[in-house]
Amino acid sequence: MMRSDPPVHTPLQKVRSDIVELYFRMRNAIFLMLVVTMTPASSQRVLHFSATSGFDHGTRAVSFAMFTGIGSELGSEVINDPLGATFSDPTALAEFDVVVFSNTSGNNILDAEQRANFEQWVQSGGSILGIHAATDTYRHSTANGNNTGTWDFYAELIGASVQEGPNHVNGTPQYAMSHIGIHPSTAALPDPWVKSEEYYYWEGGYFRNDNIPVLEVEQTIGPNGQVNSYDEPRPMSWYRELPDDGRAFYTALGHAPSNFTDDPLFRQHLKDALLWLIDASTSIKPQPTHDMVPIIWPNPAQDHLFFHSPVTGQIRIIDARGSTVIANVNMTGLIDVSNLAEGIYYARNELRRLNGTFIIQR
Ligand SMILES: [Zn+2]
Repeated sequence: MMRSDPPVHTPLQKVRSDIVELYFRMRNAIFLMLVVTMTPASSQRVLHFSATSGFDHGTRAVSFAMFTGIGSELGSEVINDPLGATFSDPTALAEFDVVVFSNTSGNNILDAEQRANFEQWVQSGGSILGIHAATDTYRHSTANGNNTGTWDFYAELIGASVQEGPNHVNGTPQYAMSHIGIHPSTAALPDPWVKSEEYYYWEGGYFRNDNIPVLEVEQTIGPNGQVNSYDEPRPMSWYRELPDDGRAFYTALGHAPSNFTDDPLFRQHLKDALLWLIDASTSIKPQPTHDMVPIIWPNPAQDHLFFHSPVTGQIRIIDARGSTVIANVNMTGLIDVSNLAEGIYYARNELRRLNGTFIIQR
């Protein structure tokens, strides 16, 4: 029989497909709202800082050129400060709304007075944007037991210190990154975003549990040719609203100079991140992503959570570093989370495209 009948839907399937359609319409509407609200801010000043006392990625000129272009599109002035002279003068520093730490590195790029001035600037509402080795800058005293700890304020501000031994995957292999939640910095990016990059590791380093990830790389293969625990899917870009009204955004992307000259998606990610930092009207709370969303209650939770999912199957619980902390949980039922530390977690089933977020708070 060659007749092509329309697909036959049972009433339940019809309801489900209506819900899915409604969901995607709402998602498109949210993206449209994001685009509408992302109008250029004016008169914002950005300090581009790229001092190194550790590994030098050789990106300061191309990074400054990229941010100069972005600044002119956003109506913002971007000032270059390769060595950090501005940090010596609180009055000069106060002229800036955002400081970009572009592939800075090492534990010896600002003296004690400059560090104090910067802390005061952050406490006055300053915002920061960190790129790649910005998490290999002033490593936290708890990272890898190295106890460098010259300036934990900085690592706690940027949200992480990259793991040592190894820091990252070998070379710049290509992997897929997926969006987590909805944020202006990823609104114009493909999902998944397949990119060649020197993907960092966090497991043995330092990582704040309240970083809110927006991009997560899929499982990678380690320099030893094996999939190690630190190769699990993990955040590559995140943000936080700071207690003193400023904002922090960081991306671990940006190893190769070509990112800054020949990668329109990298540029878009940084441009939209900068716009989010300088324009309060782009504020948007994290929301469930492209997938089906389970009901999670209560949220925030303390010791137990009730899950109810629109589909059957099992989920895993992932912490903010991307590590699976509870595997194979039924999609509907009560879950004991009393062993989980405070922080943000994800409930996920990739196969069924189910994705939820919850917070443990005690
Ligand atoms: Zn690198």
